[in-house]
Amino acid sequence: MPKDSVVKIGVLALQGAFEEHLSCFNRLNVESSEVRLMEELDGLNGLVIPGGESTTMARLMRDYGLTAPLRKLIKSGFPVMGTCAGMIILSHKIADIGASTLDVMDINVHRNGFGRQIDSFETMLSIPVIGKAPFPAVFIRAPFIERIGHGVEVLARLSDGTAVASRQGNMLALSFHPELSDDLRLHDYFLNMVRNSVKR
Ligand code: GLN
Repeated sequence: MPKDSVVKIGVLALQGAFEEHLSCFNRLNVESSEVRLMEELDGLNGLVIPGGESTTMARLMRDYGLTAPLRKLIKSGFPVMGTCAGMIILSHKIADIGASTLDVMDINVHRNGFGRQIDSFETMLSIPVIGKAPFPAVFIRAPFIERIGHGVEVLARLSDGTAVASRQGNMLALSFHPELSDDLRLHDYFLNMVRNSVKR
């Protein structure tokens, strides 16, 4: 089957779980490529910021000269999905990561918010925007969302009410790792955001 020729996705590949995202888009028959420099975003329609270590990623983004130009691009409406550390990178700056986040989404996150006892877990999560069937969400030393600004929609909460997925216009932020489960509905949801932005 030929690839979907309408959209091409970039995956920020400075550090972390970027290969798994590329593989998801491949399975969805959508072209995707690694991005380390701003020029590599030319001709692409959306960006994934993967999980990894937000401290390292924020420093590498600064060193590669990506922080300010990416912030500007995303603020202009370019679709982006941040997963786990990627969600931290999209959020308001937090004190303990040493370099600036992109600070584009009006959320504050709590890094490593689940503590030592349950630092990794998997849970079936209800995410109404992708359908009725619960999503197998893998949390690895995950952040959670502790403040949600105006215009930010919470897409999923744990059973105790903790917000773990949100969207603000062209930006999608997930506490967990959708690329580590076989369920591709969140990648597909992001692709729809991208397709709609291309149409406009
Ligand atoms: N704990 C990591 C951080 O703070 C995030 C972990 C992950 O992306 N799996 O950056």
